[in-house]
Amino acid sequence: MAVVDLERVSAILAMPPQAKAILDSKEKQVIMNLRLKISSDEVISAETFIVYHCTVRGPAKGGIRMWPDVTLEETGVLAELMTYKCALSGVPFGGGKSGIRLDPHKISRFIKTAIVKEYVHIMREELDVGAYVPAPDMGTGPVEMAVIFGETHKPETVTGKPVGVGGLPGRKEATGRGVAHVTRLAVERLLQKPINKMTCAVQGFGNVGSHTAVFLAQMGAKVVAVSDLTGGAYDPKGLDIDKLRDYSNHNGGGVAGFTKQVITNADLLAMPVDVLIPAAAGDAITHANVETIQASLIVEGANAPVDRQADSILRGKGKRIVPDILANAGGVIASYVEWQQGKSGAITPITETYDTIEQRLTNAFDRVLAVQDETKGDLRLAAHVVSCQELLIALRDRDWV
Ligand code: NAD
Repeated sequence: MAVVDLERVSAILAMPPQAKAILDSKEKQVIMNLRLKISSDEVISAETFIVYHCTVRGPAKGGIRMWPDVTLEETGVLAELMTYKCALSGVPFGGGKSGIRLDPHKISRFIKTAIVKEYVHIMREELDVGAYVPAPDMGTGPVEMAVIFGETHKPETVTGKPVGVGGLPGRKEATGRGVAHVTRLAVERLLQKPINKMTCAVQGFGNVGSHTAVFLAQMGAKVVAVSDLTGGAYDPKGLDIDKLRDYSNHNGGGVAGFTKQVITNADLLAMPVDVLIPAAAGDAITHANVETIQASLIVEGANAPVDRQADSILRGKGKRIVPDILANAGGVIASYVEWQQGKSGAITPITETYDTIEQRLTNAFDRVLAVQDETKGDLRLAAHVVSCQELLIALRDRDWV
């Protein structure tokens, strides 16, 4: 299913059919078989894709997902999401994504590095010209990005690199920083309440979830519940997020057991909190559990954590949902700063990165809210309208339509 309902958008924004046709299809799909001999009788073989959804606003930006069940279709949906996310936050990138169908947990560090080198080898035409600019996604991280940088010799080829090799201080925290900032804006402007009076529950305690929780706690919000694949932690007085991070890091990466009170992921989603932040995987809230949701504000830290059916039911109950392309755009904004730094050779202080994230997200939030007020629709539709406005400008500027 398409990320953006172009028919709904077209009812608000006059879109020529040619523009709709462009956004309704993929620009280019590269499908390769990555093969690597790892011993005299063993060859690893992994289907590998790069999908370009739309590059009218700039090179395709999006992460590399190394996961055992990643598909071309899923990669395409994620590429599409990136087109709209980049357009909404105003960074000069298009939408792309890459997939390597392989279980990252079943290979050694050494083999993973060799696979990434092979990836650069087979995808060199895409990477060398800067047509696709990768970043980390599930199963890949800063080390893999450093390997890509090493193989291509250009810092702007890839973002999400370690700070020691041209990476950006603050990139790691950027998505969570943005989710927390957007949560504060939504609480203040939609609920007319201060953030330090809010209770929050965060699903997922990985990169996005943990940093979101840290920044929310710094703002004075009470993060009462957090969960991950190991289970959940709950304290009605508010969790000590710094201690929880230490615990999780020293406990094989899990939050389970941090508090006496044990909760499940289902309990977390159903908590009577002000703000619920699904920041783990897609499809966390579906028709199967939507009736249990009590929070009045849902901020999509993850990509597509609320499916379309659940979205419509929640809206029907008057709940507000801050869509993924707005809520988690802090990461791609920081990627833009890193890309710019790679091109220019500048060194960017963390304060500047955080300022850029907050300014761009505030600007996008204001525009989305203005469209929502005007159209009396929902935030997701308004965010899609603002993205499409930007894409239409670029499509016309480049004489594509
Ligand atoms: P991550 O792998 O660092 O962390 C994922 C967390 O979610 C882990 O704590 C894991 O235990 C938990 N989790 C996974 N499946 C779960 C389930 N079924 N139930 C409960 N917990 C579960 O990943 P991340 O980088 O934090 O990304 C999380 C989401 O945010 C993904 O949807 C990703 O596409 C999206 N996203 C990430 C970034 C980024 O910069 N990392 C940017 C934008 C969007």
